[in-house]
This record gives sequence, C-alpha cells and structure tokens, in this order.
Amino acid sequence: MPELRRNPVPAANVQEAGASAAAPAAAPKVGFVSLGCPKALVDSEQILTQLRAEGYQTAKSYDGADLVIVNTCGFIDAAVQESLDAIGEALAENGKVIVTGCLGAKKDASGEDIITKVHPKVLAVTGPHAVAEVMNSVHTHLPKPHDPFLDLVPDHGIKLTPKHYAYLKISEGCNHRCSFCIIPSMRGDLVSRPIGDLMVEAENLFKAGVKELLVISQDTSAYGVDVKFRTGFWNGRPVKTHMTQLVECLGQLAKQYGAWVRLHYVYPYPHVDQVIPLMGDGHVLPYLDIPLQHAHPDVLKRMKRPASGEKNLDRIQAWRKMNPILTIRSTFIAGFPGETEAEFEYLLEFLKEAQIDRLGCFAYSPVEGATANELPDPVPQEVREERRARVMLLQEEISAKRLQAKVGKTLRVLVDEVGPREAIGRSAADAPEIDGVVHIKRALVPGKAKPAVGEFIDVVVTKADAHDLWATVA
Ligand code: SF4
Repeated sequence: MPELRRNPVPAANVQEAGASAAAPAAAPKVGFVSLGCPKALVDSEQILTQLRAEGYQTAKSYDGADLVIVNTCGFIDAAVQESLDAIGEALAENGKVIVTGCLGAKKDASGEDIITKVHPKVLAVTGPHAVAEVMNSVHTHLPKPHDPFLDLVPDHGIKLTPKHYAYLKISEGCNHRCSFCIIPSMRGDLVSRPIGDLMVEAENLFKAGVKELLVISQDTSAYGVDVKFRTGFWNGRPVKTHMTQLVECLGQLAKQYGAWVRLHYVYPYPHVDQVIPLMGDGHVLPYLDIPLQHAHPDVLKRMKRPASGEKNLDRIQAWRKMNPILTIRSTFIAGFPGETEAEFEYLLEFLKEAQIDRLGCFAYSPVEGATANELPDPVPQEVREERRARVMLLQEEISAKRLQAKVGKTLRVLVDEVGPREAIGRSAADAPEIDGVVHIKRALVPGKAKPAVGEFIDVVVTKADAHDLWATVA
C-alpha cells in the first residue's frame, strides 16, 4: 500500500498531528501531500488545522483516504514536474484529488490551466492561500462529519439581522488617523479579510436566504491596501484583494441568487469611478454611502480626513452622469473645532450643489483620546447644535424635492415587514435602519396575496415626504 508523498519532516508532522485518537471512528479521512516552500507549508498547516477543527481525520496512505489534497509548487520546471507527478500518483492510487498551491495558479503559453490540461480528472484546483476555497471543495466532495455542537451553528454563522439581509465585514481597523476618531487606537491598522473567505461567506449567506448584502468596514475603498492587493482565489480563478474586484465578484454572485449588494463606508478615491459601471444591472445597487464629514478643505485638513484632497463635488457629479439614479448617502459634522461661520456656509453651499440624497449630520462632540480635542478655537455647544439644525433644515428641502421626483415611478423594493394595514419595503435608495422606507398600500387589499418578508416586488410611488415614499403594488 503506497504511502502518501510528503515533504521531508514538517509536513509529516502536521499530518500526524492532524490524526487523533479522539476523532470519531467514522470521521472521513483526508490524505495530504505537501510540496514546495515554507509559504506553501504554512498553507498546508492552515488547511490541516481547518480540517481537524471540522472533525476530519488525516490518512497516511492513499487507500486509507476518502480524498487527497495535493499542495503544489510551480516555481521551477523541476518543481512543476514533481507536482504533476504527485497529482498523477494520487489520482492513480486514490482517484479523488483536490489540488491547491502555486501550480494551481499557473497557465501554459496558450493560457490554459496547466493542471487540468494534464490531469482533467482532478475534482478542483485553487491557487495558493486559498484555505476557504479548498475547504469549500472538500465539503462538496466529502461532506463534513456531523458535530453535535458545531452543527448547531449554520454555515452562514449566527446573524442578528433579519433573515433576508446581512452585513459582510470586509476588513478590520483603519490606516487613517482622523483627528476626531479613536477607532484606529482601539482596533489597529487595516486588516483586509482574504477575498476567497469573503466570497465563501457571501455565498453561504445568499444560500441561507439573504437577499441584500451590506458591505461594511471602516474604509471600504482601502480594501486590500494592507496586503498590497494580493491575488486570492474564488471559484478556481485568481481575484485581486481589491475593492473593484470584490464588488465585481459580489455582483456576479448576487445575480446568481437574485440578490442585492449595497456598499457602505466608501471614500471617494479615484478608483471608486470603476465601481459605478458595475451598478448597471441592479445587483450591485446604485447606492454609495460616503462619509464626507465636511466640505471645506481647511476643516477637512484639521479633521485629517482620507481623500480630503479629492474634488468631491466634481466626482459626485461625474458619478451621477455615469448613473443618473445613483443614491448618495453621507454624514457630516457641524461645529468641528475652529469651524468659522464662513467655513460652515461653504458646507451649506456644497450641500446645495451636491444634492446628497440621504444625509446625517452630527453636532461635533469630543471623544476622549481624540487629537481633535487639542485643536484651538472650539465652537460653543449651542453654535454646534444650531449649525446642525441648519444643515438638517436644508437637507429636508433637498430630500423632499428628490423624493418628490420619484412620484409616479415604478421601483423595485425588498419587503421588510408585512403588517395588517401596509407592508414596509426598501428600494435601492434605502439602506436598512438609516434611510427612509417605502410604505406599500395595496399589498393589503382583501383577496390579493400579501407580499412576503424578503420578497422583491415592484411598486408605483404615489406620495413622498422628506424621508419616506408611499406606493402601491405595480
Ligand atoms: S473616521 Fe477616519 S480614522 Fe476613524 S475609522 Fe473612519 S477613516 Fe478611520
């Protein structure tokens, strides 16, 4: 009975560490062949750790394994040949083979995948650093052992949101140092989650019935900066850890499941321009939540805001030209230390021009530990409140006008609640909890089927105020 090929010492160790007498006798067994450099070895360790965490056993021989994973190297010709031989051996001896590692990402001169060309019978191929993808393939071809504790937790984890929408947190921390904020000191610098993991999580959520996925972070535009936009893998194809590629992939997945993707905390960097065209088919919603906080360049400088040098008004107008139904949400701070009346009026002028659809405004409030507390010329509390009220008054007008323009139009809404007298839905322009809603009337006509929570329906807008719309089923 041939033994599994293995890297001299370390991989042998991880294989044996993975096998445990405590694992249930009927647990499925995975064989592991680890080739290549220390980085590949770390990938192998992570996959073996995950296998073990999920209750799989590891097998020392091909015929004792229910499936074999081969982690390959593609660095030099000799390594490529060794990897291809290892895959061939695993296929001949076992038959069920998943391939991962550097060779998985390599193409030949004609652009074809080297591995599937030589070994078309492999079950799945991923590139390096693709633990989530490999585990996904393992789950497909060798279902997870039942765990009475873990199995109480669904694949999509435990969610606190209603079943039909969910948040996808794409990174932790933040590389900026806005003077009013202490998040970086609490959560550290930006750490982007691997794109493959995000895609698996997104798919699990869609499979569980999520119809709207809300992408969140501290700075969505910066996704991938910390890992230098490293290439990850999704569905066997290389994908960059970059906002544009993430949005593109999420849009494709959402389309497959008939769902929406909504983007929050997007800073107006130039590359956001590439995201607007992805909003064309209605799955990536024409909606951007951009926390601008102010408009005057000097205030933005004192705030140390990211993208403060960008011409935000020009950018917003250019986006609206690209997609006239784009909804823009933003938040602002009134009465930041040193804000003069002229600077505040500059903000009001900006709001009149920018015609932000959804706006929140806060009177500046010092946070313990924030560097803004040391800035000179604090604005008196009553002036901060008064300026906030002026912003909100102006916004009422702008919002009412923009919502009024929707009367008579047909909108697609996602139903959030169904009551005895009306249903409540949200259109592409309404994020849950923070924006307005659509009150749907005729949903409740006796004899007419009521819409269900989590269902998309088309409605015709009949009335608007400064926050909400009223509509009937189309
Ligand atoms: S406010 Fe500034 S520092 Fe704080 S999380 Fe947002 S971008 Fe980062």
